Amino acid sequence: MSNKKFDVVVIGAGPGGYVAAIRCAQLGMSVACVDEWQNHDGKSSLGGTCLNVGCIPSKALLESTHLFATANHDFADHGIQVKGVTADVKAMMARKNKIVSELTQGINGLFKTNKITLVHGHARLSPGKIVKVSDRKSKKTTDTLEAENIVIAAGSSPVRLDNADLVDDYIVDSAGALEFDQVPKTLGIIGAGPIGLEVGSVWSRLGSEVVLLEALDTFLPAADSQVSRIAFRTLQKQGLDIRLNARLLSADVKQKKVNVTYEDTRGAQQIKFDKLMVAVGRKPNSDYLFGDEMELEIDEREYIHVNKYCETSVPGIYAIGDIVRGPMLAHKASEEGIMVAERIAGQNSRINYDLVPSVIYTHPEVAWVGKSEHACAAAGIPTSVGTFPLAASGRARAMGSTDGLIKIIAHKETDRLLGVHICSAQASELIAQAVTAMEMEASAEDIALTMFAHPTLSESMHEAALSVHNRAIHIKN
Ligand code: FAD
Ligand code: NAD
Repeated sequence: MSNKKFDVVVIGAGPGGYVAAIRCAQLGMSVACVDEWQNHDGKSSLGGTCLNVGCIPSKALLESTHLFATANHDFADHGIQVKGVTADVKAMMARKNKIVSELTQGINGLFKTNKITLVHGHARLSPGKIVKVSDRKSKKTTDTLEAENIVIAAGSSPVRLDNADLVDDYIVDSAGALEFDQVPKTLGIIGAGPIGLEVGSVWSRLGSEVVLLEALDTFLPAADSQVSRIAFRTLQKQGLDIRLNARLLSADVKQKKVNVTYEDTRGAQQIKFDKLMVAVGRKPNSDYLFGDEMELEIDEREYIHVNKYCETSVPGIYAIGDIVRGPMLAHKASEEGIMVAERIAGQNSRINYDLVPSVIYTHPEVAWVGKSEHACAAAGIPTSVGTFPLAASGRARAMGSTDGLIKIIAHKETDRLLGVHICSAQASELIAQAVTAMEMEASAEDIALTMFAHPTLSESMHEAALSVHNRAIHIKN
């Protein structure tokens, strides 16, 4: 590499890093991005966790398996008779891999278009904004880069449990469970968070008996409790066996089975599975990132400490995405990447951390933004609440997707939207309306006064807003 001095060096090419690199380049800066991701074939692949083993492969499989489940369970209701519907898991995996490969190569294309220098290897930060890049195998330094500004976007990795070591393809993490080449007859999952629910849905739809063991006594505690109760009931009805208050004691592999012991309110329980996925959260990749003399503030949970502008304790060094506080979400990482790039360019960009949407891509999907009803109550905020059940929506009925509801929480005095919570088909798309409205500081009345096309699921948002003031049309107020 001839030019080793850059305006910006970005460490990590996940949705935080690659977006930061592109935005910096758009703003006229010279940019290098260092990334160490390698696929099974040893080839580098951009896009980080999200594109390689996270958001994209999981959604590809969720889409394929949703179609399979629809063909098996819902076609007859539409008067469509199909016989002998089978799932070709190898073909599903090949489709998923093709989507991943096209998207990751797309980032290589974007880097070329934006004249971003891509450096493969492991980056370590030294004082003076020096980044040393080494080969993963030989550990030899292959490049030394220097920059005015550094953006650390090194992401996160799955949390490992001492009492459930990963074993070949028996006890796996989410990446392993998105690569099974056949449907396990029984699948145990430790953790009923988004990964447990999404990956559990994939295999359950293909015929696995799926049991989720969740240590907490509350299902999806971050969601509004009315919505999480509906989601819990609906997912249980679909066959996901979600056991709350179930704390893992041990897991080991004997005679090609995973023996799991866990404790619930009745005491110690034992259960056997063909496969077990551990999905108990992710931890920031802040190990092995710094040279010996490098001093950067790291908090007690190993996140790089940053302020609301993603500035670290060292001027000119920024950190974004999963490696810093806040929800571990791709869109949050990307928005932080854009903010940091623009602030380096002297703009006054900022992020509204109160309006980060959350989505769980089960069927129906669960999505929310803003405060839940119990969070408002705990904070002493007076509220007016409107709800609309999907069962009362003509479009939901036409789709055969009537499980769920939309709930809007507004301030009792100002009517300003405080939170929107959805359990519905396409909730991931519907929630964007709520985020936009809340970003514009809209009131429930603003949504009530807006015209929505008929028949759409979006009309349920309109009806929920009308319901805040007890004037929904298609339900009893
Ligand atoms: P990452 O995507 O983890 O990227 C970090 C990159 O940095 C990697 O390529 C890594 O190899 C590289 N790197 C690390 N250290 C170094 C180093 N020292 N030198 C060089 N390179 C380095 N989020 C959503 O918003 N929606 C979803 O639907 C969703 N689904 C998910 C499903 C699964 C199964 C999983 C596991 C996660 C999912 N997530 C989802 C979370 C999402 O993937 C992360 O929040 C997101 O990828 C974080 O982006 P990032 O850029 O911070 O880090
Ligand atoms: P999570 O932290 O969201 O959920 C893990 C669950 O495991 C928790 O409910 C926790 O109580 C439980 N748990 C922890 N230890 C346990 C134990 N010993 N026994 C039983 N249960 C235990 O983490 P996740 O589901 O692994 O997801 C990781 C990250 O990836 C999250 O931050 C999430 O935001 C992100 N992600 C997002 C999406 C999405 O946006 N759709 C999808 C997948 C992952």
